[in-house]
Amino acid sequence: MAAPFATQDDLRAALFDAGLLIPTRTQGLLHRSGDFERVVQGVERYAAAQRTDQTAPRRWFPPLMPREEFLLTDYLRSFPDLIGSIDVFTGSDKEHRELLSHLDEHRDWTQSLHPAEVVLSSSICHSLYGTLPTDIPQGGLLTECCGFAFRHEPSMDPSRMQSFRMYEFVRVGTPAEAVAHRDEWLQRGLEALAALGLDVRSDAANDPFFGRVGRMLAANQLTSELKYEILIDLTDAKSTAISSANYHEDHFGLPFGMRTADGAVAHSACFGFGLERITIALFATHGMSLSGWPQEVRTTLEC
Ligand code: ZN
Repeated sequence: MAAPFATQDDLRAALFDAGLLIPTRTQGLLHRSGDFERVVQGVERYAAAQRTDQTAPRRWFPPLMPREEFLLTDYLRSFPDLIGSIDVFTGSDKEHRELLSHLDEHRDWTQSLHPAEVVLSSSICHSLYGTLPTDIPQGGLLTECCGFAFRHEPSMDPSRMQSFRMYEFVRVGTPAEAVAHRDEWLQRGLEALAALGLDVRSDAANDPFFGRVGRMLAANQLTSELKYEILIDLTDAKSTAISSANYHEDHFGLPFGMRTADGAVAHSACFGFGLERITIALFATHGMSLSGWPQEVRTTLEC
């Protein structure tokens, strides 16, 4: 099937012209319209409805997480260019006056700020691990989670937002349980997205690790087939990943001290539906006006 748009510029222009996404003065920071958000919420409900375990707990996270837990995820080492740290003002009256004089003189007022005890979450499931029990019960632990992630990668690509939401299914358990979770959910995700009329396929992928060491990590991730993405061609230029399935090995089990019933370090895997990206894919595929969409898709998404 041919991609619905020739270039990313065409897709972006169509989304902006229809008023679905509203640009700000910062690249990758986009406002969502009422119709866009109706679909996002429909996709979130639809993602949640794919659950197979009706007893799995569900968590909705704020866009922030504790700095100390963020350090345990090792994200700073692998993706320093994508992170977002938060600075706050904790000074005295005198220091406030200094800050304001710097501001008025167009000097660097941010030097009066200090890192807070929270940072922006880089991935949804990062917020989860520090709150799970360290003794993982027999059969593993399944949790559903949803929230905002921040990635500092300013881009003109409307699908590459700096702040976006995902709905994730996260399993912590033995290596076999984690791999099975990743593989089952990749298949389930493909079927669920195809049922919305999206022309999707899966492929092995790697994360954008930073620097020279990062290139080795990325190559290893690819050859070890740890990460798969669900892709769709929205433009002729480049395919877009709208979901991902990740096997983390012991990357989180080790620093967060999680162990399985047999005493071994726990492994983990997650599958995430990208809510804004799926929504953009739906508008690109079915048209920029909800009223023109296939009725069955609107009924399924209740939008
Ligand atoms: Zn995850």
